[in-house]
Amino acid sequence: MSEIAKLPKGTLWRHNQAGDLPGMGDAIDREAMAGLVRANRGKRGYTYTHKPMNADNAAAVVDAIGQGFAVNLSANDLAHADELAALNIAPVVVVLPADATRATVTPQGRKVAICPATISDNVTCATCGLCAIANRKAIIGFPAHGASKRKASAVAMAS
Ligand code: SF4
Repeated sequence: MSEIAKLPKGTLWRHNQAGDLPGMGDAIDREAMAGLVRANRGKRGYTYTHKPMNADNAAAVVDAIGQGFAVNLSANDLAHADELAALNIAPVVVVLPADATRATVTPQGRKVAICPATISDNVTCATCGLCAIANRKAIIGFPAHGASKRKASAVAMAS
């Protein structure tokens, strides 16, 4: 946590390359989350969560976003992305079929952009930064396989 706090102002950084928000099982550990949010002050941290958005978790996410830490809700498919987007509390990302290379829409018509780092060698998280934009309307789609290696290297370059 102290390493995050020491990052220069405005730094784009990703929490937890693999894994989820702090907390056992489905719960978000509010105390640990508060520490992350504090460490992120003045920076552009972002993360992803698969935790269910029950009232407690949603409150933790809303609070984190309100303090500048972008928590993306991770959907398993496009219908799930609609469900999460309808909560209107946080930006949404979604896993797409492995061969997806083009933007698409959800069953309810929401736009889904492809993570540019998964389709171009010239884009990294450092140059993109979409996941750190908490008030983003577009859902970001990640092709399920094959792209993960490139995505991981893109993320590594952002840190
Ligand atoms: S390159 Fe992909 S993972 Fe990185 S910030 Fe942009 S959309 Fe998110």
